Amino acid sequence: AQERYASIREADCITADGQHIHLHMNAGLMADLPSLDNSGAEGVGLFRTELQFLIRNQMPKRTELAALYKRVLDAAHGKRVVFRTLDIGSDKVLPYMKPQEEPNPALGWRAIRVALDRPGVMRMQLQALLRAAEGRPLTIMFPFIAQYSEYKMARNEVDKVLARETRLGHKVPERLEIGAMLETPSLAYAPQQFFDEVQFLSIGGNDLKQFFFAADRENERVRRRYDTLNVSFLTFLEGVVRRCEDSGTHLSFCGEDAGRTVEALCLAAMGIRNLSMRPASIGPVKSLLMRYNLNEIRQVIHEAGANGEQSVRNAVMTYLRENG
Ligand code: PEP
Ligand code: MG
Repeated sequence: AQERYASIREADCITADGQHIHLHMNAGLMADLPSLDNSGAEGVGLFRTELQFLIRNQMPKRTELAALYKRVLDAAHGKRVVFRTLDIGSDKVLPYMKPQEEPNPALGWRAIRVALDRPGVMRMQLQALLRAAEGRPLTIMFPFIAQYSEYKMARNEVDKVLARETRLGHKVPERLEIGAMLETPSLAYAPQQFFDEVQFLSIGGNDLKQFFFAADRENERVRRRYDTLNVSFLTFLEGVVRRCEDSGTHLSFCGEDAGRTVEALCLAAMGIRNLSMRPASIGPVKSLLMRYNLNEIRQVIHEAGANGEQSVRNAVMTYLRENG
């Protein structure tokens, strides 16, 4: 399938109305690294660091992690890699951690909540990342930030580790970018100070959708009832785009929907300029986006909404058929 899109692999993704959409890849295992060269990805928009923890039967050591992260940064040859700190709990349970008995794991003690309550592992991971960078630029993203204070606490951990590294005489990154994932609706309404402070936001559509519609992402029966192209959801995303534009906050989208062609087109039409997806999706998404006018798609979306449609999918599909 990659062959089919080889001719546009090196091309920028510019839509028919001249808008540049940046396409990045999701990764997490060393086996994903060759895709950095052969998918046409501009960088890694989401590196799921928990995968390295999940494939072992004991907690990895700092030196091992630093070596792994260094390999990732070496393979990226200066392309931006967004390292997401450990995102465990809910559907991702470490075999060597005591499982929590929770009635609602998706709403439970997971991701940044675990990291802030038991900061040891995150500190070790942050130190491994800083060492792996060896002075190169580094990008770190915190998962599942639901409120401003969690971001401030996580950021504070970075500052402490950074100060310690400096004290120890280790090189620190020439540029450090710190961001958060927007996976709960609450963060869209965080105080302006949050939007001013955070260096970038990435929408974790898989979790966000589950909480937006109160529909378990693991439960096919309820999950399938709600379309990503639902007008309420797109309107919500549009609000996030506007807040980010107003405060100059870099915004991306890294859930699975970014790799679905029609969804990606609609996300771009709503104003999301950075999409991160599985490497195999980059060709098909780029190919579709380059053929269409995002302003026109946006109008189709708004018209369908004004007509009381629940989902804009039919309207967009009709437009694509008639203008393809
Ligand atoms: C998401 O929630 O959309 C996301 C990218 O993170 P994960 O799928 O790893 O929870
Ligand atoms: Mg998530």
